[in-house]
Amino acid sequence: MNYKNVTIAGSGVLGYQIAFQTAFHGFNVTVYDINDAVLEKAKAKFNTMCEAFKKDLSATQEQLDKTRQNLSYTSNLAEAVKNADLLIEAVPENPKIKIEFYNKLAKVAPEKTVFATNSSTLLPSQFAEATGRPNKFLALHFANTIWIHNTAEIMGHATTDPKVFKDVVAFAKAIGMLALPLHKEQPGYILNSLLVPLLSAATNLLVNEVADVQTIDKTWMKATGAPLGPFAILDVVGITTAYNIDKIAAEKTNDPLKIKTVKYLKENFIDKNRLGVSTGEGFYKY
Ligand code: NAD
Repeated sequence: MNYKNVTIAGSGVLGYQIAFQTAFHGFNVTVYDINDAVLEKAKAKFNTMCEAFKKDLSATQEQLDKTRQNLSYTSNLAEAVKNADLLIEAVPENPKIKIEFYNKLAKVAPEKTVFATNSSTLLPSQFAEATGRPNKFLALHFANTIWIHNTAEIMGHATTDPKVFKDVVAFAKAIGMLALPLHKEQPGYILNSLLVPLLSAATNLLVNEVADVQTIDKTWMKATGAPLGPFAILDVVGITTAYNIDKIAAEKTNDPLKIKTVKYLKENFIDKNRLGVSTGEGFYKY
């Protein structure tokens, strides 16, 4: 892997974290977003990230000064990508927006640039054609608060070049991630393939009146040694996400229990702004 220049497209929740983490580890990072006003908002997150890196990783002022020097910003896509070895796409989780983005990017990116999507729920094969370079395209999926929860799931599609895959695994390690390679495409990667059924089973038990929140969490924690039970995890993830996932499942399957779960989450949590840790209350109080 001889990447030096990395472009991050989309400077929102995850995009800016990826940009900062990559710059912190010595890469030249260009942050791209749709306009300068959005980029100003991204720049303003720099100090917050510095505080988090100081607190959580004991980052030194010298490291943070270097991180700032490694970051540049532009709303011109051709400019953003002109020297890029790797572009990480973190634009909204909307297939139409992503396809439009890749169509534009394919026209201006140099031939050498590898593209990686940070999509949580969509598959790289959905965008491979739009990238114009399917063999240099794959998924590199981070988790929120990447400097602490430093997992990077790397997932190719059918025609991703194995050398590109290997390079991206090496890149993930070079920016301090625990690299987690997948052998084939899987909706939800590894993490959500495990987590979504667990959380869904927990809400089913609750809505079906089998046991209460505390008992379900205690069972999981004591029996497996896990530090959090499913409802405490739901509070961290955010109940809106769980609600959206269950809503899609309910509409698709018409399963009466799922429909009941969606109604329960809406009435008791969404409508009352009890969305989890972020609002100070979900299944538990914070
Ligand atoms: P976000 O809404 O916070 O940020 C999206 C950014 O993309 C915004 O800054 C927006 O201005 C920009 N944008 C919109 N259209 C664009 C375009 N055409 N070109 C370039 N930039 C554009 O979203 P997010 O939470 O950072 O999610 C981004 C991606 O990362 C999604 O695919 C999501 O699934 C994935 N992801 C999110 C999380 C999370 O916890 N938020 C975790 C892992 C992966």
